[in-house]
Amino acid sequence: MIKIKTRRDQKIALFGLGTSGLITARALSASGNKISAWDDDPIQRKKAKQQNIILEDLYISDFDNFDALVLAPGVPFTHQPHTIAKKALLAKTQIIGDVELLIETLPETKFIGITGTNGKSTTTALVGHMLEKAGIKRQIGGNLGPPALSLREPVDGEIIVLEVSSYQLDLTKNASFDIAAFLNLSSDHLDRHGNIKNYFKAKSQIFRQCQNSKKPQIAIIGIDDEFGRSLHNEISINPFWQSYPISTSEKLEDGFYVTDEKIYDMSGLVICDLRKAKNLLGIHNWQNALAAAAIGYALEIDREIIAESIMNFHGLPHRMERVDSLNGITFVNDSKATNLEASERALACYKNIFWIAGGRSKGLDCNRLADCLSNIHHVFLIGESSEEFEKLINNKVKTTLCGNLRTAVREAYNAALVCKNLSPTVLLSPACASFDQWENYEARGNAFRQFITSFRECVE
Ligand code: ADP
Repeated sequence: MIKIKTRRDQKIALFGLGTSGLITARALSASGNKISAWDDDPIQRKKAKQQNIILEDLYISDFDNFDALVLAPGVPFTHQPHTIAKKALLAKTQIIGDVELLIETLPETKFIGITGTNGKSTTTALVGHMLEKAGIKRQIGGNLGPPALSLREPVDGEIIVLEVSSYQLDLTKNASFDIAAFLNLSSDHLDRHGNIKNYFKAKSQIFRQCQNSKKPQIAIIGIDDEFGRSLHNEISINPFWQSYPISTSEKLEDGFYVTDEKIYDMSGLVICDLRKAKNLLGIHNWQNALAAAAIGYALEIDREIIAESIMNFHGLPHRMERVDSLNGITFVNDSKATNLEASERALACYKNIFWIAGGRSKGLDCNRLADCLSNIHHVFLIGESSEEFEKLINNKVKTTLCGNLRTAVREAYNAALVCKNLSPTVLLSPACASFDQWENYEARGNAFRQFITSFRECVE
């Protein structure tokens, strides 16, 4: 846990007692601040009480008495603020989150921040892997891994790499990053931000200028969408920033790009051959690899180490994760693909796919599958959306209604076995949320793995 040295004897309200809220309350109390904490969920309040965190019903508190309100990132704030946030706004109380506290309390620490609509976790994990290979001490946290304040006090110039969401960035006021990466932006979380303009504004805060900067901060910006492009145009003329664009679709003289399945730097030197990066399949993952390579350059890591790290990166669980291979059939777990856009990316990466899909629908515009349809042999549908899904897709590709995942694994395997000489892939990439049958996408992916293990025992 990191003690907050920048705040002492303050009276701080804290709303949202999940994992990060509980640790934040303890980190603030440890430096002598008086915390008044609350959560709507009595179970979370009980957990806080057990950790000696003082509870106060913030719905009836007078916010004039507080120096700050610390909000959990999930609580609506900028658009249609939650009642507690409204009270703080009305009283002009500072509203912040744990990332702000972490960065303000460690002014000597080098911070790398990574944001974007998609690819944050993969890029953050890849950067962590690369730093380790380069022998650079680092900790990883934020939206991936441990919450910001449950990291350890950094030692010997240890770098902190943070995955930061738009929700977390909205709760920063002064926090700035030595190296900030913005991967991409597309329509998401609009219920939370109101519209894409606000969402973009939230994400852009990753490029906040450091107040007493001694050398330029480094910006790495994916310019394959209009938002990243306009950000780069703006930041590249700001003398306080050194900006490196990255692109998977065009050659760049001032940045990093992919062409012929290779990553190039701004002087046209090849960094690595992406065909050898077995766990970073697909153009979307190449964007993540580009961002990591650019961060590697910014940290002056040897080009060979950057290349090796990209090529031997293990990938993250539940994201196009190769789970097993049985009688020439490969099983891939892409449970994190909770919408059709994400599944489309996986479907573009394999041939002869026996696709397991379905769950709680978030809208299934199957027309967007046009380009990858030829890769799909047969679809096995599960969960709540099965019938809706079937109606939309059965004129395009063969479908079977399976009901549950266990049946789908068995049916997909049996069907794939018939054409095992084609190196088929059984791909779980649901294109739907998991909540109709599972607690979350991780539980769904873990069940897939388990079914394959028990299935292996039966057929061997
Ligand atoms: P995040 O942490 O931003 O949710 P992840 O790295 O966990 O991103 O990847 C989640 C899903 O997003 C992946 O399964 C893949 O479908 C998609 N994805 C990953 N990287 C990118 C990218 N750079 N651009 C677009 N989609 C991506």
